Amino acid sequence: MARPATPRDPYEVLGVPRAADDAQIKKAFRSLARELHPDVNTDDPQAEEKFKQAAEAYEILSDAERRATYDRFGHEGLRSGGYQPNFDQFGSLGDLFEAFFGAAGGGIFGGGGAARGPAVGADVGAELELDLTQAAAGGAFAVTYAAVDRCEHCHGNGAEPGTPIETCSRCGGAGRRQAVTRTPFGQVMRTVACDACGGDGRIAAQPCAQCGGRGALLAERTVTVEVPAGIADGQRVRIGGRGSVGAPGARAGDLYVLVSVREDERFVRDGDDLVTVLDVPAPLAALGASLQVPTLTDPVTVEVAAGTQPGEVIALRGRGMPRLQRHGHGDLRVVVNVQIPRRLSDEQRSLLEQLSATITEENLRAEESVFARLRRTLHLHHSR
Ligand SMILES: [Zn+2]
Ligand SMILES: [Zn+2]
Repeated sequence: MARPATPRDPYEVLGVPRAADDAQIKKAFRSLARELHPDVNTDDPQAEEKFKQAAEAYEILSDAERRATYDRFGHEGLRSGGYQPNFDQFGSLGDLFEAFFGAAGGGIFGGGGAARGPAVGADVGAELELDLTQAAAGGAFAVTYAAVDRCEHCHGNGAEPGTPIETCSRCGGAGRRQAVTRTPFGQVMRTVACDACGGDGRIAAQPCAQCGGRGALLAERTVTVEVPAGIADGQRVRIGGRGSVGAPGARAGDLYVLVSVREDERFVRDGDDLVTVLDVPAPLAALGASLQVPTLTDPVTVEVAAGTQPGEVIALRGRGMPRLQRHGHGDLRVVVNVQIPRRLSDEQRSLLEQLSATITEENLRAEESVFARLRRTLHLHHSR
């Protein structure tokens, strides 16, 4: 990437007056950066070069001492003062972008750049299995999971206590090295973290015996997670800051608890509603009966009306699951399963034959419409 022989005036690049204050400079760079970032702007072939110029201009004008030097002596003054613009690599551009916009990890560059700021801890996952009653009630549950913790033996610096920490010989203390990466823009040089020192630039002469010099260890932890009443299978509860520890000075990751709810042999869940099946012997369906059905708490008695048909649904309002993060409960839908006797004694057969001979159209006449009967027969749930 050819750099212009004469560097441009940073005020001109950012389009701000010479008297611009820090907020104006920051705002101008932010909007330029968003517009010109090479991973965003793929239309303008000059975008990458313009972005570099904007980044250099911002690095000069955002630093009071550098800005004063530039104001008095220009680019020549900065160079003689030892300042070198450092935006030749995507990696350092990414660093600047991340430092500025606070993107974690690879940020908009999609990884690969050596992070300038300390690395944020990783998010971790844990699983919590509940039965349906627990999911309905919610409450505090203990969850055990593995996450990276600071090594207590070396207090996280990776050195065996009492031994020195030296400049990394692999990277000469820079903490980073150059690597060629293939991208949609072609091959680019990226700056990546030194694999010997992990980007610190310093390395323990004698690595900590406990953590092998990493300064951190995988450890098992137990936390209490507050599960909201009505949580459903597959939902996650996030606990901020309970993931793996970050590099010194960086925040820890988050813990995501994946909740699985065991199947309940009594109920099928349908959103906030629960569905259960009530077996009703055919004669009772014809005569009507008071029968018990299970609920999430105590069984309740339901009135099965005389003439109740197979598949009819009795809705028990408010006996379903609590509505997550809202007030109230869903319903318990009781689906009537009319049981036809499979075996008959001689006496029962004789009685049924007598009954059958007396059945008329009038006994069977439905008060519901054909459509209502179809809905019921096809198990399209409705309440009566
Ligand atoms: Zn250690
Ligand atoms: Zn190194």
